Amino acid sequence: MTDEKFREDGLRFTAEVTGASVMPLKISGELCIGCCRCVNACQIDVLLPPEVPGEAPRVFYPGECWYCGACVMECPVPGAITLRHPLMNQAKFVEKKTS
Ligand code: SF4
Ligand code: SF4
Repeated sequence: MTDEKFREDGLRFTAEVTGASVMPLKISGELCIGCCRCVNACQIDVLLPPEVPGEAPRVFYPGECWYCGACVMECPVPGAITLRHPLMNQAKFVEKKTS
């Protein structure tokens, strides 16, 4: 999927979906109200606005996600965004007890 847009200054740019070994972010098409607060919250443009206003944003660059959680915190609908952290981010290292 290729997305073509025009900036306010007239420059044209395109964006394409990139492959990723993980898919950290999932947006529920049923719960999402299309407010795009998550799109505005993401500082590295992992998300792009929907082609049709009111629909769910598109996860364009999942491999670039920092797992910062800003999009989840901004979302007004609980459960609309599911952020799956990589396994190593979920690991909890504890001190080994010797006695
Ligand atoms: S977790 Fe952070 S980096 Fe990843 S999509 Fe959300 S706001 Fe962007
Ligand atoms: S902030 Fe939540 S409800 Fe709004 S567009 Fe993003 S996922 Fe949908």
